[in-house]
Order: sequence, then structure tokens, then C-alpha cells
Amino acid sequence: MRDGFLVSIFRQTVRGMRDLLSDEAEMLRDIEEKARESAKLFGYREIITPILENYDLLAAKIGEENRKRMYVFEDLGGRKVALRPEFTASVARVVATRMASAPKPIRFFSAGSLYRYDEPQFGRYREFWQVNYELMGSDRPEADAEILSISNNLVWDLGLKDYSFKINSVGIIRSVLDKERIDEEKQNEIMQLLDKKQQKEALALVRRSGGSQKSLSILEELFQLKGEENTVIGELKKVIENYPEATKAADNLSEILRLFKSTNPQCSVTLEAGFARGLEYYTGIIFEIFVSGINIAVGGGGRYDGLLDLFSSGSGSIPAVGVALGIDRLALALQKQGATRQREDNIQVVVIPVDDQSRIEAFKKSSLLRKKGIKTEVEVMGRSVSRALSDADKKDVDYAIIIGPEETEEGLVVLRDMKKRIQEKHSLEEAARIIISHMNLEM
Ligand code: AMP
Repeated sequence: MRDGFLVSIFRQTVRGMRDLLSDEAEMLRDIEEKARESAKLFGYREIITPILENYDLLAAKIGEENRKRMYVFEDLGGRKVALRPEFTASVARVVATRMASAPKPIRFFSAGSLYRYDEPQFGRYREFWQVNYELMGSDRPEADAEILSISNNLVWDLGLKDYSFKINSVGIIRSVLDKERIDEEKQNEIMQLLDKKQQKEALALVRRSGGSQKSLSILEELFQLKGEENTVIGELKKVIENYPEATKAADNLSEILRLFKSTNPQCSVTLEAGFARGLEYYTGIIFEIFVSGINIAVGGGGRYDGLLDLFSSGSGSIPAVGVALGIDRLALALQKQGATRQREDNIQVVVIPVDDQSRIEAFKKSSLLRKKGIKTEVEVMGRSVSRALSDADKKDVDYAIIIGPEETEEGLVVLRDMKKRIQEKHSLEEAARIIISHMNLEM
């Protein structure tokens, strides 16, 4: 008798964790593969870093909200470790500690699962998958524009329609706060509130931190500014005309967009001067990608020039910019837009032995077929030929190869065309030729 308590535990996954059955798993891997192709096209080489990292590495600069949501525990050696909530810290660690003097820029691609103790809801899980592109070693707008382009390339290649980039530069709001001498810690809190769209609360915190009335009204004006980047940038520059650092940030944003738009003129870009992201390490452009039909971002990124210095032993600073796209959400967006996945993995052939004596022959023949690249399943349930054939019908198999003592004696097999419901004897070579020419026709 099985323990009832254990059975009830096995029935469900840990909250926020999912089993991805084959259709979902294959979809996830398809998207990952497309992202890998984009990486290769743009010269990003893949790296694999551990899922488990030192807590302190991951906690540095990730932002209070994200820090609270990490899966943290002590390993058996007493080390404080955590499941990675993002890739950037790990990639930054690799570059800062092992590649500080390598030729720049360094372009890295990563893909894998991440863990955040978020409240589960539509498109938000505690284990989810991302593809990630990081470009390290350049502080120039070309680098930022490339990261926008590779993101656009992937979303476009996946076949998503009606998507847009929401962008801003953290330099704009931060330089207003700098002028008010609001310290970094308070600034981070203010940015976190903005990330959660709590603008009133953010303004109240600026006031409590000693921000002047003038700064408050400038911030309020900034928070109203959103729209197509070409039209908004002019208004934005008027609002911040007395803030040289903010003006520099806005000019930098303009230049990035000019470069990006030169090769992606159709891409919709909205500038939102009150938009912030939760991660503390951003220093320049920040952006998110939204697809119509799902009201959550499918990707996000930005420039983070100081992060690598934090992990290096001071051999010169390495500026960086990157983006992460959520595979689960890209899949949701594709589903919403009605994109159907082309199944390429149908089994073409089922090999059925008619009796126990023919099992070895069935094994040998299936192995020969697979060597020719034919997807082949062998009957392993000991069923009668008619039951095995009716199962093959349900699975949409193209051909059955039936093997009995008589055929084995003759050196032949029975090849059954499952769609036409006709069967003939052939040598295995001839049967394979017929199947392959059918496969080529299908392609
Ligand atoms: P971030 O690492 O926070 O910049 O997020 C980048 C992308 O990862 C988001 O735009 C989402 O597509 C995806 N993402 C972030 N958190 C989650 C989550 N809890 N569940 C599913 N996808 C997520």
C-alpha cells in the first residue's frame, strides 16, 4: 500500500514550478534554438554558467525587490548559495575575473532556467526560461543599438507581430535626483517604486528625502512624457534643459535610436520618461519589449557600466549592455497570436514483429532504418499486429514494417503504407528507399 500522504504530495509540483509536457517542452526548445541562431548571426558565443552561485554575487546590485525573491540556502559545506535569478551577474563574473584582458568586445549568449520567488500568475513563474545576450567592453551607442537589433531580430524571426520597444534612460531621472543630493540607496528605492508604476509614492519619497519643489514638478512632468520617440525626445529635452547630465543621457538615447532605426525603420519604439526597471545596476538605456495581446514584457535589458568593476580586481572598467528575453512569455505571445508549431518529429515508421521469434529481426531492421536517418519506433508491447497497426494509425505514423518468420526466410519485409492502407513485400533496402523518397516529398 502506498502512503496516502506521499501520493498527495507527488500529485503536484512545488508551487510556481511546472512540468512542461512534450508540446510545451518542444516549443521552449524551438524558441531557444531560434535565439541561438540569432546569437550566431550576430557573433555571440554561448557560455554555460552554474544554476547555483554564491548568494553575495547574485545579491549585489540586483535590487531589493529581486533580492527578497531569491531562493537562498546553505549547502552542506555551510556556504550561502542561491539559485540564479538572472544571467547577467554570472556572465559579468566570468568576464571580470577570467577575461579582463581578453580582446574586447566580448559577446556572450546564454540560455537556461532561472528562479525567482515571484507570486505565480499569468506569465509569471518561479522557474522560467530566458535567452540572454551580453555585449561587454564597449560604452558606445553602437553597442546599445546592437542589443536592440538582436532583440528585434529574434522577436521578428519568431514571427511575432505588433510588438514595440518601451525605452528610457536611467540617467535622466537619476541626474535630477543627483542634483537634489539624494543618495544612491534612496535613489534605488525611488526607482523600485517607479518600476512598480507607483509614481505618487516615488514622488512622496523624493519629497521626504529632501527633494525641492522644483525637482518634484520636473519629475511630475517627466512621468507624463510618453509617446513615439521622435516626438517625445524634443519635449523631454525642454523639461530637463537645466540638467546637463540628463541632457547627455537624452542625447545618448537619441543617438542609439538613430543607429537602431537605420536598420530597423519599421520597429515601433515608445519613449517613456517615467519608466524604470527593478535591477539596480543599470546606468544608461533601459528597455522592455511588449507584444500586443499579452500585457506583460517578453524581454528587457539595458546598459550596466559599473557591474563588472564590482567583481574585478580593478584592472580598468568594462562597460556592458545586455538583454534577456523570457522564453515562456515568447511562447505565450506566439500562442496568443495564433502561431502554430510545425511538428517535425512524427515517427515515420513502426516496426512490428508478428511473433516472439521475429523480435530480434525487428530490432535489427529498426536499427538499420535509424542509421539511414528514418525515425523508427519498434513495437515493445507484445501486441498483435492488428492492435499495433491501429495504435500506429492513431499516432499518425506513415509506414509500418511487419516482420514474420516467412519474410525473414525470404529476406524481405512487409511494407504497409498506413495512409493508403496497402502493403507489399520488399527488401529492407527497397522499403527504406520508398520511405526516404516519401520523406523528401513531404519536405
Ligand atoms: P528581467 O530579467 O527581469 O529583466 O526579465 C527579462 C524577461 O524575463 C522578462 O521580460 C520576462 O519575459 C522574463 N521573466 C522575468 N521574470 C519572469 C517570471 N517570473 N516568469 C516568467 N518570465 C519571466
